[in-house]
Amino acid sequence: MKKIAVFPGSFDPISIGHEAIVRRALSLFDEIIVAVGANALKKSFYPLATRKEMVTKVFQNEPRVRVDHYEGLTVDYCGGNDAGYILRGLRTSADFEFERAIAQVNKVMAPGIETVFLLTVPEHTHINSTIVRDIIRNGGDATMFVPGVINLKDYKGEED
Ligand code: ADP
Repeated sequence: MKKIAVFPGSFDPISIGHEAIVRRALSLFDEIIVAVGANALKKSFYPLATRKEMVTKVFQNEPRVRVDHYEGLTVDYCGGNDAGYILRGLRTSADFEFERAIAQVNKVMAPGIETVFLLTVPEHTHINSTIVRDIIRNGGDATMFVPGVINLKDYKGEED
């Protein structure tokens, strides 16, 4: 059976940390679905369509990566897409505590789905989308934190 993993997140915007996790995970899975969260209650900086467009551009030459969006429970999305794995990246012990709770709850809800964690490479530990957004909002240059194919000037974020 095909090993399909879902990599869920906000990707607001996608960073080189996210990109590295997906590329490394391609050696573990046959297919990875980058599932961009469409949360009606949580306002994002970049609109959903823009976030998806950026992710699609990053993986345009990787046929084993699919980009989609979803609402609702991640485990339900996995079930609907024959995905047996949830992929998450770990940067710090704070990430671990947060992810542990989610993964354990997911395990209770959907025992057949395994959450797989990849530890970030040290040079990406400090990168997170909140900081990248703050830099962009304040007119700074965040180029070094986003994948090389992304030209941030091409995308417009929304002020909150
Ligand atoms: P969320 O909205 O769930 O926090 P994110 O878009 O921030 O989603 O992140 C999605 C996944 O990518 C999470 O598992 C997160 O830990 C991981 N991630 C984010 N930044 C990095 C990074 N710099 N290195 C490795 N993994 C990361």
